[in-house]
Amino acid sequence: MQILGFQKTTLLDYPGHVAATIFLGGCNFCCPYCHNKDLVLTPDEVSVIPEETVFSVLKKRQGILDGVCITGGEPTLQPDLKEFIQKIKSLGYLVKLDTNGYRPSVLKDLCKAQLIDYVAMDIKHAPEKYNLIANRSNFSIDLISESVSFLKEGLIPYEFRTTVIKEFHKEADFIAIGKWLSGADAYFLQSYKDSERVISPGFHAYTKKELEHFYSILKSDIKKIEIRGIEE
Ligand code: SF4
Repeated sequence: MQILGFQKTTLLDYPGHVAATIFLGGCNFCCPYCHNKDLVLTPDEVSVIPEETVFSVLKKRQGILDGVCITGGEPTLQPDLKEFIQKIKSLGYLVKLDTNGYRPSVLKDLCKAQLIDYVAMDIKHAPEKYNLIANRSNFSIDLISESVSFLKEGLIPYEFRTTVIKEFHKEADFIAIGKWLSGADAYFLQSYKDSERVISPGFHAYTKKELEHFYSILKSDIKKIEIRGIEE
């Protein structure tokens, strides 16, 4: 398993839980705002953390932590992901998976095997503009839609989430996203934070008021919507 980062404790990554976060290398997208540039562009240059190190911490923290977040990069690219999660589950942890949703077959397999307790899936953009952010050759929106439809079936708890960037997302896009995700349980509008560490720095966030306007567009389509990452 290509473990390229390990945060022993987080109160933020797994809503309602004290968790550890494991970062896996590689991604099939190249989002310009990605904060995990090294994991996406040069994963082979990042030191791998041995699985034994991670499992030794997880064993010691049984009873202190209750969940493990698996993020990346894009975790579903790892060929041994299922076995890896099985080992985490055997220690009694809840598992949250962060995914871009581009490998619906892997997502479905893990969920149907009852190895995942919560999924956070990115919604990069409205369907017709999706690849402006994903930046992938031979991009297929059908794979993303397949993951959206699967999660909306409600087999396990999930959230959709969009990092909202002024240069990419406009009012009409949220009308399209609302129609696409219609009936979904939960959707989060995440304010963008620029940093020199993202793949292409220099993008801008919307104000709280502007995000609240997008919220109002979406609220009749989706059961629960929240805005994240806005400083009061
Ligand atoms: S899908 Fe996620 S990990 Fe991959 S490039 Fe986009 S933001 Fe980064």
